[in-house]
Amino acid sequence: MDKQELMISVEFFPPKTEEGMAKLREARTQLARLNPKFFSVTFGAGGSTRDRTLDTVLDIQAAGFEAAPHISCISSSKQEIRDLLQLYQQHDIKRLVALRGDIPSGEVSAGDFRYANELVEFIRQETGDHFHIEVAAYPEFHPEAASPAADLANFKSKVDAGANSAITQYFYNPDAYFYFRDECTRLGMDLPIVPGIMPIYNITQLARFSSVCGAEIPRWLRLRLQDYGDDLASLRALGLDVVTGVCEKLLAGGAPGLHFYTLNQSGIITTLAERLGLKAA
Ligand code: FAD
Repeated sequence: MDKQELMISVEFFPPKTEEGMAKLREARTQLARLNPKFFSVTFGAGGSTRDRTLDTVLDIQAAGFEAAPHISCISSSKQEIRDLLQLYQQHDIKRLVALRGDIPSGEVSAGDFRYANELVEFIRQETGDHFHIEVAAYPEFHPEAASPAADLANFKSKVDAGANSAITQYFYNPDAYFYFRDECTRLGMDLPIVPGIMPIYNITQLARFSSVCGAEIPRWLRLRLQDYGDDLASLRALGLDVVTGVCEKLLAGGAPGLHFYTLNQSGIITTLAERLGLKAA
């Protein structure tokens, strides 16, 4: 595929401070050179970042880029989601990343929605085709899934409810992605499934994220990264080599694009994009 046609997207989290917002703007300026189709902004479970997500999305829009808020439904009522959808429509937001969200610990009542397919269905009922809806996909399977087959069937229920495209959880094993994509095609799903790419910034943080979300860090890689200890330069150099290799394999195998998890930083992704030949002239 021509690199110009790739669906590149970039994910931020909503900063808590003005200083954080200034850093995000700087990262956005750098990453805009990759010509992303959109920047997405995460949403805290239970709506905890509702206002900050909106402010960050509006800031991105004001700079002339497409911005997609993530929206999670767990612990929310239908009326809360309806109000949020109306707010997004008023601000001419056209794309959403629709998620269940992680169940807050100690939470008993889960609100009006149990799973993301119910959210996708509700968005379609309330707003027709206004939004392009992205959903989450799990090539290494979601940790709560009863089985790989059940997880695939649950993914299909989001597609059948009206999702237009999907972004995957991060992974470091391209074969997991290829098997997942091919299985989706076999089950009759015809939507772009864009791999989520997590650069390696820090092994402690990565190991923590991975144990929660079910992404596997290959043993050889984890041990080598841990062995570097405080030597961040060596850790990042190996991480960059590994992630570049993963992206190259994904693109060579027909992945429709790449979605970068940035943690609001641009440096590693800029270098990665240069290595992949993605950066605009
Ligand atoms: P679902 O698709 O509902 O799946 C959740 C689990 O339930 C899966 O195990 C699935 O197999 C199972 N399941 C689904 N339907 C059924 C059913 N009918 N019966 C039984 N089991 C079922 N979290 C946030 O809080 N904020 C964010 O901004 C955010 N952004 C993300 C962006 C991406 C690209 C990804 C991949 C994840 C993101 N997450 C975010 C994390 C996400 O909320 C969690 O992974 C969450 O645990 C699952 O969300 P989901 O939308 O995939 O849920």
